[in-house]
Amino acid sequence: MIPYGKHSIERDDVDAVVDILENQFLTQGPKVEQFEQALCDYSKARHAIVVNSGTSALHVACLSLGVTNGDIVWTVSNSFVASANCALYCGADIDFVDIDSQTRNISISALQAKLIEAELSNGLPKVLVVVHFAGFSCDMKSIAELAKKYSFAVIEDASHALGATYLCDNVGSCRYSDICVYSFHPVKSITTAEGGAVLTSSPQLAKNAALYAKHGITKEHDDFIEFDKTAWNYEQQVLGFNYRLSDLHAALGISQLKKLDQFIDTRRSLAARYLEKLSSLPIKLPILDDNTDSSWHLFVIELLEHDRETIFNLLRSNKIGVNVHYIPIHTQPYYQNMGFDSGLCPNSVLYYERAISLPLFPLMTESQQDFVIDTLSKALV
Ligand SMILES: *Cc1c(COP(=O)(O)O)cnc(C)c1O
Repeated sequence: MIPYGKHSIERDDVDAVVDILENQFLTQGPKVEQFEQALCDYSKARHAIVVNSGTSALHVACLSLGVTNGDIVWTVSNSFVASANCALYCGADIDFVDIDSQTRNISISALQAKLIEAELSNGLPKVLVVVHFAGFSCDMKSIAELAKKYSFAVIEDASHALGATYLCDNVGSCRYSDICVYSFHPVKSITTAEGGAVLTSSPQLAKNAALYAKHGITKEHDDFIEFDKTAWNYEQQVLGFNYRLSDLHAALGISQLKKLDQFIDTRRSLAARYLEKLSSLPIKLPILDDNTDSSWHLFVIELLEHDRETIFNLLRSNKIGVNVHYIPIHTQPYYQNMGFDSGLCPNSVLYYERAISLPLFPLMTESQQDFVIDTLSKALV
């Protein structure tokens, strides 16, 4: 089976991990800080806190912004469930904004309309989680303007978009947001097996994030609110979690991050080949956007004339590991039980009904890609 996504692990990655196992601290050693510094250098955000998954990073991001019982958080339905679950972990209410059919990212006009309505009913969100779908940045300038006007905080779920740019910056700079989150799951741009990061340029948010990711405990004497500065003292100040990333994982991350540009270059040339060779088929291809250079986490086509299930099954039976991203979150049974109307976010639902993610990963060969292209082209005659 040609998978839809796959990690690239080479000898130097293996050596980096083995070195930790043989010679160094397994956790809470120097690799975590080194990885955090490398992520700051790359993203230009001032602070990075690495954690054990992208999902933990989203949870910590919400906690750091003070999301709690009764607060309102908005996100998009065209995402992985973690983009919404993070708000529920904090006891907040979640709601969904529809996507733009061209970008497949949050629709600025839908967001604007929903904000106007929410202001009238006293239901403005505290936080908006935007998702850079497939590796294309959202329209962050417009989002930042609305955030200012309606006083909500913005979290970028950049799980797909490590390696992408928006205007002059790498996604992760936090220039237009409060917090940006990366995931290092094996299908993402780089991997630590499981892992994630919280990026921010706010010293206070960085402090909060570190606190929530490490049991709510600080060892910094200057930050104590009760205890004196006796050498052994540490303080638990909030109810935090053990979301730490180990040094093993961080060492892998450091090694992988060095190769990020190379991984993204390969993804970009494979995507360009797909765009060229699939251009005459009756499908909707990803639409390039001058403001963002995609990291090409996913290459999603939408079928315009053919039945999605038929084509999906045909590709799978040819050992092509196609996938579907995403079943709209609000249509999941858990969310249906919360009372969400399945007619919510019609663009997300329509997009979902026609979408297929084709295989795309740095180690994919051109002959594997040609096989995908040929099989799909024959299926769509
Ligand atoms: C992968 C992903 C996550 C969660 O990341 P994990 O590291 O698997 O916990 C969150 N949001 C989106 C959009 C993702 O693709």
